[in-house]
Amino acid sequence: MSEARKLGFDTLQIHAGASPDPATGARQTPIYQTTAYVFKDADHAARLFNLEEVGYIYSRLTNPTVSVLAERIVTLEGGVGGFCCSSGHAAQIMALFPLMGPGCNVVVSTRLYGGTITQFSQTIKRFGWSAKFVDMDDVEAVKAAIDENTRAVFCESIANPGGYITDIPAMAAVADAAGVPLIVDNTSATPYLCNPIALGATLVVHSTTKYLTGNGTVTGGCVVDSGKFDWSASDKFPSLSQPEPAYHGLTFHAALGAMAYTFHGIAVGLRDLGMTMNPQAAHYTLMGIETLSLRMERHVANAKKIAEWLEQDDRIEKVTYAGLPSSPYHGRVATICPKGAGALFTFAVKGGYESCIKLVDSLELFSHVANLGDTRSLIIHSASTTHRQLTPEQQEAAGAAPNMVRVSIGIEDADDLIADLDQALTKATA
Ligand SMILES: *Cc1c(COP(=O)(O)O)cnc(C)c1O
Repeated sequence: MSEARKLGFDTLQIHAGASPDPATGARQTPIYQTTAYVFKDADHAARLFNLEEVGYIYSRLTNPTVSVLAERIVTLEGGVGGFCCSSGHAAQIMALFPLMGPGCNVVVSTRLYGGTITQFSQTIKRFGWSAKFVDMDDVEAVKAAIDENTRAVFCESIANPGGYITDIPAMAAVADAAGVPLIVDNTSATPYLCNPIALGATLVVHSTTKYLTGNGTVTGGCVVDSGKFDWSASDKFPSLSQPEPAYHGLTFHAALGAMAYTFHGIAVGLRDLGMTMNPQAAHYTLMGIETLSLRMERHVANAKKIAEWLEQDDRIEKVTYAGLPSSPYHGRVATICPKGAGALFTFAVKGGYESCIKLVDSLELFSHVANLGDTRSLIIHSASTTHRQLTPEQQEAAGAAPNMVRVSIGIEDADDLIADLDQALTKATA
C-alpha cells in the first residue's frame, strides 16, 4: 500500500494496533493470559525498569492484548499515546492523577454521567482534590471558575443524561488561555461521532464498557493523550515537569517528550494504583470495536427516528435529543459530532412520576437497567433510581426531573422499538 494513503475509520477500527501474532501467526489478537514476562537477561530487565527500552514486565503495567486495544483507541482518537483501565471511573481517576495534588481542583460540567457527579463531588475529596461544577454553556462562568489551583477542565462530548452537546472548541480555548488541559469524556459519542482532540482537547477518557465494547459484557476504560500539551510551560504539573520522586527522580516531560503523560500513567499510575484492565476484557472490547462504525450508524438512525416519533406524540411533553431541530443543541451537531448526535436522550411523559414508573414497567423490548451503549435498547427512570437521593430541584437541574426517562437506543428494528414504546405509553398514561 502506498505510504501516503491515510487509512479510513472502518479500516482502522479493525486493524489499528494489531498484526498477526509473531509467535504463532494467529490472525486474531490472542488473549495473552499471563502475569509476567521472561527477561532476556539481567541487562534487559534493567533497561526495561529504567524506561530505556519499552517491553513487557508485569501485567499490572502492560499486557500485549490490552496494549493492542489501547493503541487502537489511541489511533481512532488521533492521540499519541494512552492506556487502558479497569473501568471508565478508573480512567477518570487515572486521567487526573498526574495533574492533581492536595488542594488542587478540576472545573467540571454540571451535565455528566451520574456516577461521575458522585465521584467528583464526594470521593475525590478523600485525595484532597475538589471539583467545581459549572454550566459549560456559560463560557464566562467557566473562565471565572478557573483559579490558580485549577489543574484541568472536564466535560462530556455528548453529555448525560439528555444528549446535550458541549462546545468543545470553546472549552478548549478557555482551558488553553488558563494553561490547563481540557479532558473530554467521549464515551457517549465514541471516536466515530466525535473527535475531541481535533476540536482542541488535550486528553480523552472513555468508559469502554459502553459503545466501544457495545454489548454490555465487560467494564473497562481508556485514557488517550493528544501529546500536544506543554507540561513544562508552568510549575502546575510537577509530576511531569519536575523530577518525580515516585519514579527514582525521572523528569518525565524532559525524558519522554510527547509520551510523558502516557509513560507516567503506566509507570506510576497503573503501577501504584493498579486500576488495570485484564486481557479478557480487552479481548471482548477488541471484538466490539471491529464493528463500531456500523453499530453507531444504526444507533444514530434509530435514535433519530424514535425521537421524531416521540416528539409528535400527544402523550409526550418534550424530547431532548440534539438530533431534533427543536433542540437548543441542534446547531452544534455539524461541528462537534457531524455523523450524528448519538443515541442517548431523555423525554418527559405527561402524567409525571407515576406514568414514568408505569412506562418502564410496561416495556417489553427495552430493558430497565442502569447502563447505556448496549446493542439492546435501555431505559431508566433517573428520579426513582440513580438520582433518587436528590431533591426534586436538584433532579431538575441534573436533567433528571421526576417526569423524565432516559433512553439508550439500541440497534434493533426501529419499528419494533416504536411499537414497544407505543403499547407501554398507552398503559402508562391510561
Ligand atoms: C458509564 C460511564 C462512565 C463510567 O464508566 P464505568 O465503566 O461504568 O466505570 C463514565 N462516563 C460516562 C459518560 C459513562 O457513560
